[in-house]
Amino acid sequence: MVRFFATSILAGLLIVQSAAAFVVEGPRKSTGNPIEDLRRASRWAMTDGSLVETQQRGLGGGLEYSVDVSICELHFVDDTNCDQAKNVIAQALDRWSSGHPVLKFTDVTGQIKPSFPLAVFGETDQGAEIDFYASSALEFPNFRNALMNGYTIFYDRPTNYVTLANGVRSTDVKDRIESADVRVNKERCFYVDENLEKTHPSCVHFPTLILHEVGHALGLGHPTERPSLNIDSDDIPYNEIPINCMASTEGLKPSIKVAGSAAMVRRNVQAPGIWKRGLSNDDVAGRDALYPNCDIENLPRFSQLWGGFSRSENGSVGLSKGQDTRNDALLLAQKNCSATSGACVSVEPFNGCFVYAMAKEEVGNSGSAFDWRYWAVASAQDPVAARVNAVRDCNQKRGIGNACRVHTEFCAFDQ
Ligand SMILES: [Zn+2]
Repeated sequence: MVRFFATSILAGLLIVQSAAAFVVEGPRKSTGNPIEDLRRASRWAMTDGSLVETQQRGLGGGLEYSVDVSICELHFVDDTNCDQAKNVIAQALDRWSSGHPVLKFTDVTGQIKPSFPLAVFGETDQGAEIDFYASSALEFPNFRNALMNGYTIFYDRPTNYVTLANGVRSTDVKDRIESADVRVNKERCFYVDENLEKTHPSCVHFPTLILHEVGHALGLGHPTERPSLNIDSDDIPYNEIPINCMASTEGLKPSIKVAGSAAMVRRNVQAPGIWKRGLSNDDVAGRDALYPNCDIENLPRFSQLWGGFSRSENGSVGLSKGQDTRNDALLLAQKNCSATSGACVSVEPFNGCFVYAMAKEEVGNSGSAFDWRYWAVASAQDPVAARVNAVRDCNQKRGIGNACRVHTEFCAFDQ
């Protein structure tokens, strides 16, 4: 699957309305609900290894990018040279990774040769994870449109799950991005020195263009094009959009309010003002919604901490979490359980999240209570998966569908 973004300037056309908020390119087929689209949206996955070292495509080792020599053939009216142009690309990538603990970029130019098929739909692109190159109208027919500055494609592949940037495994995400190509139009003229905006109004501010195209390579779309799919936390444009790093759709809602200073707004790709201001709150929120921005230095990962659960005959429980070893988790859960009752039985200690489900029974007219005779436990990396399994197993034991509810749930890394 290939998604492509044609980035043109609309010369002479006064655009009076553009939308605030951000929009994700989303799943292959939009659900029509922007929050649901965000939950499912294609994105780069967390990986342990890198492309160079272990041939894994994803965030591990940084998104590895390669700049083709054709970038050096662009016409810069301020005589920007090849190294300076490459430096601009590095700076644009820095803007996107700044303040994010996981989303990083690694220059592999010279190590991995860029690959840019013209339109190999349905095939995975080769080359680095992100390739930058320039094409003439002859090489790339879309650039016959002299107003088209850049063209970015990402390639995504169906997947059963994606490990998000916060370490949580999501089964909602249906496709993972494995490659992206950023193509710049050789037919255009460019500048880096922003003082040239007035004297070369028909040329393109190269840093601003690259900033915009990288947003596409990450999975973001143009908020101006499908306002009904735009996302915000309120209807106030420009302000910060808080993103919960462990539940990145929480508190978000559709919003079509008018604003327009985001790097991802299509008409903004030419003007240096966007580069001067830097990424807008909307751009950063779009990034953090796709790549949850947790301070992972202070948020131990699943694989590093252990949790335990112990339960006595009469249903009292002992928990442990945040333990360094499996054995510590086991002993502490046992101890916490024994503190309140007699013999305790422990489940296998776990790295991820744990759910203890119990049947609920009607108690006269006074409502319902947990029935400790029917229970089930489950652990999984994904708390939602654990919840589903525990409740399902409990319902089976009870022999009544929808009898069970979650009684206790926690993750090994909980504070
Ligand atoms: Zn664009």
